[in-house]
Amino acid sequence: MKPYTQLLHCKTTLEDHYAANNAPIYQTATFAQTAVENQPIYDYTRSGNPTRSFAAEQIAQLEEGQFGFLFASGMAAIATVLNTLPHNAHVIAGSDIYGGTHRLLSQRVQQGNLRVSFVDSTELQKVDAAFTDHTHLILIETPSNPLQKITDIKKLSALCHKRGALLAIDNTFLSPWLQKPLKWGADIVIHSATKHLSGHSDITAGAVVVNDVTLAEKIAFMQNAEGNALAPFESWLLSQHLKTLGLRIERAQSNALKIASYLQNHPKIKKVYCAGLKTHPGYALNQQQADGFGSLISFTTDDLNLSKKIVNQTQLFVISVSFGSLKSLISLPYFMSHASIPEAARDLPQDLVRLAIGIEDCDDLIHDLAAALD
Ligand SMILES: *Cc1c(COP(=O)(O)O)cnc(C)c1O
Repeated sequence: MKPYTQLLHCKTTLEDHYAANNAPIYQTATFAQTAVENQPIYDYTRSGNPTRSFAAEQIAQLEEGQFGFLFASGMAAIATVLNTLPHNAHVIAGSDIYGGTHRLLSQRVQQGNLRVSFVDSTELQKVDAAFTDHTHLILIETPSNPLQKITDIKKLSALCHKRGALLAIDNTFLSPWLQKPLKWGADIVIHSATKHLSGHSDITAGAVVVNDVTLAEKIAFMQNAEGNALAPFESWLLSQHLKTLGLRIERAQSNALKIASYLQNHPKIKKVYCAGLKTHPGYALNQQQADGFGSLISFTTDDLNLSKKIVNQTQLFVISVSFGSLKSLISLPYFMSHASIPEAARDLPQDLVRLAIGIEDCDDLIHDLAAALD
């Protein structure tokens, strides 16, 4: 099946006796057994729920992976992956990773549960040098956010496997519509499904997809033990929104490319960070491993007051963290989404403005930016 068809015709284990055209929602905590000795597929929603399984199957198929898991948030997904590691394991994490991931890793280090090295994953020799005998996991994002640095997934996974460690890619930025890390050798794909996968700013959710059955068993065990799986109603909303993933992403991406070109030619804009521009240093590599660059654009003005003014004066762009929603958002990452990274490690220009482009009419968005810039 071609991608747009696949979004609507997911292969599923869900059985529905009424053949509903829309997958039903099993809003239940418990399931009855037919007899004491008959162990049903589902008995308790913390352990498993058909609606959650359906949405997890949709995401696993999109990622071309075997086993999918859904969590209450992206951070719950990341925490669960970390919890499958042995005590005091060493993790190599990308240096410009999501602020919440940085915070979680740092907390685990403080608690003495984990050792972490933050490394610029675009430089393979630096990653290579960071390995220790206890390195179990490499966790990175590509493109990174908000500076859109591109890491070669295939080369990094070869390095990780040579060193006996697993590679986890947080694929939130591009979504499986544009990038499928398992195809390039990654072992674990993680998502904040709060972003593109749900796309409507109505739920928080997280996802993990893996191919290895032993790894899948560990994740299923932790998910059940910790009780952080996505609830049925949220799972159902996610499964609904996934059907339009392709339409939403293609539309937002086409808007984003026009806006990036507009900004690049504007005299008040100093530098535009967008992996969809041919001038971006990671453009060729991103093209090689992904089918697009997404819908995020960052830019600097060399003037913090002007940057703040732009954020405050745009009318259509909502001042908000997050991305991948229908509506366009605007933020100052240094002070908003990345504020949880300690200042010394927050390697971002303060005047960096991030745009998360939505599906509005592009002319209106450009008009709004033009008015704020003037
Ligand atoms: C938002 C985000 C997360 C955290 O996900 P939540 O759903 O907010 O818990 C993790 N990684 C990336 C790249 C994100 O953008």
